[in-house]
Amino acid sequence: MSSSTVSVPNSGMGANPSMIFCGTCGHQIASTAPSCPKCGAPNALAAAPVSEKSMVAAALLCFFLGTFGIHRFYTGKIGTGILMILTLGGLGIWSLIDLIMIIVGSYKDKQGLPLRR
Ligand SMILES: [Zn+2]
Repeated sequence: MSSSTVSVPNSGMGANPSMIFCGTCGHQIASTAPSCPKCGAPNALAAAPVSEKSMVAAALLCFFLGTFGIHRFYTGKIGTGILMILTLGGLGIWSLIDLIMIIVGSYKDKQGLPLRR
């Protein structure tokens, strides 16, 4: 058994990823790797964790109550939610941007997790 040093591109999290074995080819890969570098099979364990908050709910809240930052409260972003009330959703522009971000899936909750689809 030869031990080869595999350098895994780290996304700068600073965490030392634990190694797992690819379920398809058995190649050792980092548990945080999105896919196996050898066979390209997606790494189920690294399937990005998602927020418990619903994207649909956030989108609806943002659409109807975005000016009051309700979707930001919903997703745990209290601070910017209050800021959004004070600025009336950045005069509607900020809330509109948020709505687009939610719909395209770029919106993250307080923990930085993408919303659940
Ligand atoms: Zn593989």
